[in-house]
Amino acid sequence: MSQLPTIAHLIDGQSAQGANPNPRSQEVFNPATGKAEKRVLLADKATVEQAIASAQAAFPAWRNTPPLKRARVMGNLKVLLEQHAQEICAMITAEHGKVLSDAFGEVQRGIENVEYASYAPELLKGEHSKNVGPAIDSWSEFQALGVCAGITPFNFPAMVPLWMWPMAVACGNTFVLKPSERDPSSTLRIAELALEAGLPPGVLNVVHGDKEAVDTLLTDPRVKAVSFVGSTPIAEYIYSTGCARGKRVQALGGAKNHAVVMPDADIANAVNALMGAAYGSCGERCMAIPLVVAVGDAAADAVLAGLKTEISKMKVGPGTAAGMDMGPLVTKAHFDKVRGYVDQGVKEGATLVVDGRGLKVAGHADGYFIGPCLFDNVKPGMVIYQEEIFGPVLGVVRVKTLQEAMDLIDAHEYGNGTCIFTRDGEAARYFTDHIQVGMVGVNVPLPVPVAYHSFGGWKRSLFGDLHAYGPDAVRFYTKRKTITQRWPSAGVREGAVFSFPSSR
Ligand code: NAD
Repeated sequence: MSQLPTIAHLIDGQSAQGANPNPRSQEVFNPATGKAEKRVLLADKATVEQAIASAQAAFPAWRNTPPLKRARVMGNLKVLLEQHAQEICAMITAEHGKVLSDAFGEVQRGIENVEYASYAPELLKGEHSKNVGPAIDSWSEFQALGVCAGITPFNFPAMVPLWMWPMAVACGNTFVLKPSERDPSSTLRIAELALEAGLPPGVLNVVHGDKEAVDTLLTDPRVKAVSFVGSTPIAEYIYSTGCARGKRVQALGGAKNHAVVMPDADIANAVNALMGAAYGSCGERCMAIPLVVAVGDAAADAVLAGLKTEISKMKVGPGTAAGMDMGPLVTKAHFDKVRGYVDQGVKEGATLVVDGRGLKVAGHADGYFIGPCLFDNVKPGMVIYQEEIFGPVLGVVRVKTLQEAMDLIDAHEYGNGTCIFTRDGEAARYFTDHIQVGMVGVNVPLPVPVAYHSFGGWKRSLFGDLHAYGPDAVRFYTKRKTITQRWPSAGVREGAVFSFPSSR
């Protein structure tokens, strides 16, 4: 093994090598330089089982800890995250590549989820009905499930894990988290801060790894629920494998979000909004906008002209440099894949209006940089229309009517996010009411729900019934139990009743 610093697991409140004296590991790269800067351990089955055992052992005491005390840990964590935000952002940028201001936005949204988790005592109060029958009271309570697991993607290494485990543990569960092996440092650092905030050892464990680690979490009977965020093929696998073993599963997958630009839209504002939504974070967001559906040629021509002008002003470079709009892609493999999609679009006959493939960043010859790319005349049959590219590649599709735009969106396999730019309230209302997509914006390009709503797409962007974080997370991470109780007066004798009990 090279002398690179090693990123270890966090099991039972301790940094851990795992069960294997010679563990597998892989390099973690800085995407701006192309250099390996760390190694991350890859947990084998026995190591993941250690983490599950730790979470299982911590469960009884944590479940019985008063919700207000659990919530206070979340309050402490919020303060620590605010204090350590710069350190966490630096870790994100060093391994993911996104610019620091973008990393800061991610961390803030994560903190909002921790804040919401600190309201858990209020959210867990349950439902109570007095006198459902003679001297009979009934109530529903929401009990913790036990050990829950989370498996997270590379693109939000701080925020997406914070969608999961704070609500899970605030509801009284314990947790095993398997972050992305491509950029695990910020995820691990936040878990260390949770210990400092007062989370008892074993309540949150972090194991790094790949398929072997994930499969162990999916098949171990001690794991009661699995939250997943990542690409659709893996989400589908997680959902079917976990459900077949009787687990509760929510698996959020990929996306291909369309923005409709109506002829009456404020084009200058729409263009500015689209710039951030298409090229922010190098397009590596599940709520990114990779497709514009322009209604009418006039709208299409105006949007293209505006985008070309704005793209020419963009600054692309290392995420740590001041004033950058866009950093590199996450890995060399992903860089090759995104470039391949641009080649494919040209071959398929789309018009490449802006070609970012030749971009060179001075002093960063080995970084995974690609400039913003813009296609016109993208057609629904094309691969660049159908597939998630997850890079800074925006395509414009030309249609004649709003209905045609909506039919395209509804026919697409993904249904994560969408938005409409218009000044016509009737069109906006029709769009939001009928479109088959889970998160919809009106003149808002990235309609990511705030922490006190819940996040989730439709169709093949989410497998499962409940969305991530917010009110749905309380339902996902708890089991409803309904208790019906009667205390007959002393000395009153009652005969047997053979009819089904009713309130009549
Ligand atoms: P990915 O599916 O490659 O990996 C996600 C997680 O699954 C990682 O922890 C990884 O280790 C694990 N994994 C990968 N291959 C596996 C396998 N064969 N078996 C078991 N586990 C496996 O996703 P990614 O590249 O890290 O993230 C990008 C994807 O995530 C995009 O498709 C993006 O749209 C999606 N995403 C979706 C949302 C959402 O809310 N819907 C949010 C963020 C990202």
